[in-house]
Amino acid sequence: MNCCNSKPIIELYSGEKLCKTHFIQYFEDKVLKTIRRFDLLGKEENLGVALSGGKDSLTVLHILDKLSRQNPKIRISAIAIDEGIAGYRDKTLERAKEFCQKSNIKLHIFSYKEEFGLTLDEMLKILDVKPCTICGIFRRYLLNKKSKELRFTKIATGHNLDDECQSILMNQMKNNIRLSARLGPKVGLVEDDKFIQRIKPLYLCTEKEATTYAFLNGLLDEFNECPNAPQSFRAQVRDMLNNLENKFPGTKYSIVNSFLQTLPLIKQKFKDEAIKVCAKCSEPSANEVCNACIYLEKLKSKAVIN
Ligand code: SF4
Ligand code: ZN
Repeated sequence: MNCCNSKPIIELYSGEKLCKTHFIQYFEDKVLKTIRRFDLLGKEENLGVALSGGKDSLTVLHILDKLSRQNPKIRISAIAIDEGIAGYRDKTLERAKEFCQKSNIKLHIFSYKEEFGLTLDEMLKILDVKPCTICGIFRRYLLNKKSKELRFTKIATGHNLDDECQSILMNQMKNNIRLSARLGPKVGLVEDDKFIQRIKPLYLCTEKEATTYAFLNGLLDEFNECPNAPQSFRAQVRDMLNNLENKFPGTKYSIVNSFLQTLPLIKQKFKDEAIKVCAKCSEPSANEVCNACIYLEKLKSKAVIN
């Protein structure tokens, strides 16, 4: 079924085919409905948008920028973390800088090299650890710490439906439901000053939709993938889910929708878990000392940083 007489550019999983104009309208409506349905934004916000320079984060920034221009009480700026991944992050950050300059959005950049003394590439030569494990720990740490310093009320990320679906399955496969309790369109178990709340406006948008939107709006010129991504467990789960989606359209929606029905129960089960503070850095931690400090100690013990 086509939306109108114009040439369709995408087929949704429901079988509906949309032209460029109707798809852009459909996508932006879906993001705004997601924001309303899950109460992602208050009346007044000083919102930080986590920007990697990839298509999802540029898409979410583009839409939130439009929203903020219509509603001056929603102020936005972008925050980017430069992990130090040669040939990849340098390129995506160039794109992030260009976009922010063109759109007149303030961009704050923090790097592993400046904050921890080493780039991710350098850390991986010293520690025998999976790249995404250490990368994610340091990125979340810096994002939360710097967002508090910048007095952001929330951080919006570009996580889409495919990302969420992968996380749900990965946690199931690792029998780690505790981690799933932190998923959902609003990240975290309870509201707490130590955490800047993270929100996911693209929660119900598929990867295919986000890529199409980014492409149609000139936010994507080439596809860049982190060189470490193919080694990750996530990449295996992503490929498996894409195969299933091709054979059984709607699989990803079904997984996320059924998860949303059980999420309140999972959050309830883990709600009393106290949020501790790391004894070394005072950032939130599940244990006495946070993972970022544990890895920094390991790097120090190899006498490569002070
Ligand atoms: Fe970091 Fe892994 Fe993402 Fe690359 S794929 S940026 S290593 S988390
Ligand atoms: Zn710490």
